[in-house]
Amino acid sequence: MVSRGRGARHDGRVTPPKSPRDQPPIAPRSDTLTPAQWYSVRRAVNSKPSTYTCPFCRGHLLALTEHVLVAPEGDTTRRRHAHTQCTLKARAAGTLPSREEWQATQPKPPGLLARLRRRSSSES
Ligand SMILES: [Zn+2]
Repeated sequence: MVSRGRGARHDGRVTPPKSPRDQPPIAPRSDTLTPAQWYSVRRAVNSKPSTYTCPFCRGHLLALTEHVLVAPEGDTTRRRHAHTQCTLKARAAGTLPSREEWQATQPKPPGLLARLRRRSSSES
């Protein structure tokens, strides 16, 4: 008896499907606005002829045109250049509260001492 089928098929090389994009999507796009409790908005004064991407409409924004800087919680390192009109629209929609507006929604800002006390008591 001739046993067939043994060794005849040796192309069983298993190549695992390698996905080039199996990295976790951690890096946020630099043209998106960081989620924050409140935002500071001020007029941008820019003389550099650079182009930005508006975080609201994703449209191009020329630095030389009139626009505003939106800083999450006043953090200027995370500021974004945005169209004045888009910023006004976001403000009107309530998605861009100012610090005063945010503070008004807070029940009662605990003092530094109260916060420290709460933290130390929750650790035990
Ligand atoms: Zn815009």
